[in-house]
Parts: sequence; structure tokens; C-alpha cells
Amino acid sequence: MRVAVFPGSFDPIHIGHVDMIQRALPLFDQIIIGIGVNSQKKYLFPVETRKSWIEEIFSNEKKICVIKYQGLTIDFCKQHHANFILRGLRTSADFEFERAIAQMNQALHRDIETVFLIANPSLSMISSSIVRDILLHRGDVAQFVPEEIEDRVMLNEDRE
Ligand code: ADP
Repeated sequence: MRVAVFPGSFDPIHIGHVDMIQRALPLFDQIIIGIGVNSQKKYLFPVETRKSWIEEIFSNEKKICVIKYQGLTIDFCKQHHANFILRGLRTSADFEFERAIAQMNQALHRDIETVFLIANPSLSMISSSIVRDILLHRGDVAQFVPEEIEDRVMLNEDRE
């Protein structure tokens, strides 16, 4: 069984993430979307909101589940018997950052491989942090987030 963890903050999930997940689906039997919770980090949306949005977007996809976690991603992988970590590469900066993490993870746990997919060129400029910036300044992010959640993302009330 090929089980992959797709880790991230998904604060909020955007169409670049969705594209990555859809393209990875044929490669794996199961994809666990892991929402990493770091107590030092400040998020725009509560983790339960981020989780329920992802569950809603992929409600028809049996291969996908969404689980939040704390601590190291490789420990989360081991806990769920996942042998792959899925990551997206948008830029060379992403590559340099991801390379070190993937190599450290490989040193810590040989059986877990990190698999990279290159971002879709028409979506590679999208990041959660820019989406958050636009939201904080009351801009329109409708074209960057999945249609199912766009109204709620634009509302203030869900924010932390
Ligand atoms: P993190 O909080 O670890 O930076 P994110 O929640 O921003 O993670 O993203 C999770 C994963 O999705 C990362 O592997 C990231 O490279 C990938 N990703 C983010 N934006 C895009 C995009 N526009 N196209 C493809 N992959 C993306």
C-alpha cells in the first residue's frame, strides 16, 4: 500500500494545493493531508476550520483523509504507516529549503521517501501567505481558493 503524507499549514488551502493533491492521487493508494500544528506559530484560520474546509473539498475522494498533527512529520508518517512525503516545488528557493529537510528526514528514517511534484506553472505564484496578506487588506482572493470555500474564506468571522 502506497501511503503519502502531504504536510502543510493550509492557512488557507488554495488551488495550488488542490492541483498538487489531484495530480498525486494516481500515484498513491492513500493521501493523508497532514495539517502541522506548531504552537509557536500564529495562524489566520483555526486548525479545525482549515481541516473542515479540506474535508469538504475532497469529500468525494475516498483516498484522502485529513489529520492534524504536532511534532516531526516523519513521526507522523510512522504513526500512520506512510512511506512517502509529498511536497510541491514552486521555485528554486522552495527546492533549496525542501532539499535540506528531505535529506535530514532521509537520514532520520531511510524508509520514508520524499516525492516532489513541480508546481503547475499557471499556479506556481500562489501561496497561502500571499492569500493571507490579500485577506488582511480586504482584497479579493476568490480566484486563488477553491470555489466551495471562497465565501467563508472571505468572511472575517472564521479567523483566529
Ligand atoms: P508550509 O506551511 O509547509 O509552507 P503550505 O501549507 O504553504 O506549507 O504548503 C504545503 C505544500 O504545498 C508544500 O509542499 C508547498 O510547496 C506546496 N504548495 C504550496 N503552494 C503551492 C502551489 N502554488 N503549487 C504547488 N504546490 C504548492
